[in-house]
Amino acid sequence: MAELTLETPVQYAKRAGPRRAEQLAALGIETVEDLLLHFPRRFDLRKQTQPIATVEAGDDNVTVAGQVIDCKEHSYGSKPFFECLLDDGSAEIAVKWFHGGYLRNQIRPGLLIAVSGKVGAFRDLPQFVNPSFQVIYDASGVRLDRDELLPVYPAGGGLTSGIVASIIKANLHNAQSLIPPWFDKAYLAQRGLIPRPDAVAAMHRPEDKEQWSRARRRLAYDECFLMQLGVAIVRTRERHRPAHALKFTEEIDRHIRARFPFSLTNAQDRAVREITSDLRRTRPMNRLVQGDVGAGKTVVALHAALTAVANHRQVAIMAPTEILATQHYRKICQYLDGSQVNTRLLVGGQNATTRNRTLAELATGEVHIVVGTHALLSETVKFRDLALVVVDEQHKFGVQQRTGLRGKGYAPHYLVMTATPIPRTLALTVFGDLDVSTIDELPPGRGKTETKLVKEKDLPKIIDFTAKKLHEGQQAYFIYPLVTPSPELELTAAQDAYEELSAGPLGEFGVGLVHGQMPAERKEAVMTDFRDGRIKVLVASVVVEVGVDVAAANVMVIQHAERFGLAQLHQLRGRIGRGRDDATCILVASPGNPIAQRRLDVLTKTADGFQIAEEDLRLRGPGEFFGTKQHGLPELKVADLIEDFELLRLARRDAFAMIEEDPDLAAPHHQQLRRELIKTHGLRLGLLTGA
Ligand code: ADP
Ligand code: MG
Repeated sequence: MAELTLETPVQYAKRAGPRRAEQLAALGIETVEDLLLHFPRRFDLRKQTQPIATVEAGDDNVTVAGQVIDCKEHSYGSKPFFECLLDDGSAEIAVKWFHGGYLRNQIRPGLLIAVSGKVGAFRDLPQFVNPSFQVIYDASGVRLDRDELLPVYPAGGGLTSGIVASIIKANLHNAQSLIPPWFDKAYLAQRGLIPRPDAVAAMHRPEDKEQWSRARRRLAYDECFLMQLGVAIVRTRERHRPAHALKFTEEIDRHIRARFPFSLTNAQDRAVREITSDLRRTRPMNRLVQGDVGAGKTVVALHAALTAVANHRQVAIMAPTEILATQHYRKICQYLDGSQVNTRLLVGGQNATTRNRTLAELATGEVHIVVGTHALLSETVKFRDLALVVVDEQHKFGVQQRTGLRGKGYAPHYLVMTATPIPRTLALTVFGDLDVSTIDELPPGRGKTETKLVKEKDLPKIIDFTAKKLHEGQQAYFIYPLVTPSPELELTAAQDAYEELSAGPLGEFGVGLVHGQMPAERKEAVMTDFRDGRIKVLVASVVVEVGVDVAAANVMVIQHAERFGLAQLHQLRGRIGRGRDDATCILVASPGNPIAQRRLDVLTKTADGFQIAEEDLRLRGPGEFFGTKQHGLPELKVADLIEDFELLRLARRDAFAMIEEDPDLAAPHHQQLRRELIKTHGLRLGLLTGA
């Protein structure tokens, strides 16, 4: 048989074959390499253990392994003892150690431990008394002992973990010869990393906890490194394209600021300084401005736009929806009322005459600022001299569009705004190719937003409260997580709520409904009615998250709040309190989930978006963080962006240094990395094509 390579289809691997190969494909394993990189989820004890359910009082020499779900200490009486409860999925069993107080530091809930010894009985239930024990995993899931390791693999598609394990085991000896080294010895030594082939082998068959940790660290480094290599290439490439340096003088600054009926906050000033110093360079700016809803990002972006206009160049401002584009457009027109600056709106719904006129005026340069949706990305949109692109709420666009837009025409300066405060780990990954400005201060004179956590049974009171506010001329949002009723989740659907609220005491104020499944025009029509005050109550699924600006809307009721992420709730809440009036955000949590309620408590205590975002990321992990699949975060198998932050930083530094020295990875000793990069991230980032 021909020699195996990493690219060889898995059917030719030992113990595989065509039928197994089909089953392996269901697990995402197509090649020998995929097989070798299919790592165990965890390790179990080999055979000696028996299910707890089969343990009987009177048995001797019994070993079970299970998770510690509870610990207790009884210190009274003549025989104080330490007791824990073990659960292995089959049953629970109590384990008692007399005079075991010293164990309090060794045995904690969450650990997986094995206990061996004699089984006695207590009130007719079997229990261990003074058994020997061994902690199998520490709190981070690291295996602590040896010999009895049984790797447990992600299984499925007709394959059990055991079959997967046997196929991998039969091929693992190939790892040494097949897996190429990425770095030389000195490089590894400097960073305390073990060779990659060793790491792959040890991930499957570690000798002990230390070896497994070292293997994991090496592979996590590799993942972070490859990702940052991609980031570094995008960034370096962007930075090496020429851009127009924009002149920025005190006079220009004064003229621009005169357009705003307020002075900028310190945080806005800082962002403006960072932006203008970028704009003066002959390299394109690539900057992310992040700040809570209402922090004044639009104003900062407009400052940048007017700097470009003062240089007789054009600006494109993109928003994710027509209603947001329209809102930006109106706002900008207000600020620019009576000025020479020509601003146009370009969205899908316009008639051909308007559209064609705008297109013509963009081509001749008569239009200075165009505001629109992704319609601006269309081939037919030609600029005479585009110098700046501003993208609002960029995470809704995804990385693909981001690079697409940047690739269009001349290299413009590029400014992204986002209202999702981004924890620093994610800033280095999803937005790792951008510089970041942070607006961490709200403009003065805003009303305060108070957040309350209430129970479902308080709903009548909430309705009364809302009715009172509506009588005072305010408006209210009612937010629901799902649109159609789902009996499993027992969620009230927005549709039901709409009917209920319309029929109830709020009906007289006019109730509207928007949700994700509605056609865009209907949705925008309802939002427009709400914005213009024709209806006072808006029942919505999460669509309002992206940002209508309604100053009179100062009540928000969020149903089933525990179903939302913290960052998402914080963003939703940012929709109210936009004017001078105080606002009230009411989080309605379903009963019976104390952990979820505690989680929500953070929101009642702080309005600091970054603190909330960090907390959210910690609780839910990066994948869920953005609440959308479009976040552009590469999938990581081994690395954990939160736990491995320092490793990520190291990898980032190394990757950027490498790209600085060898921007196209052309050096012979970088060819392996180049191949890995194309394989792993090439399609995603559109990098190194034609390589
Ligand atoms: P964001 O885009 O960050 O959500 P905006 O730029 O839309 O915020 O600003 C929110 C509101 O605050 C707008 O009505 C804007 O006019 C106002 N605003 C912005 N900056 C200031 C400031 N420095 N002082 C007072 N009001 C401000
Ligand atoms: Mg905004």
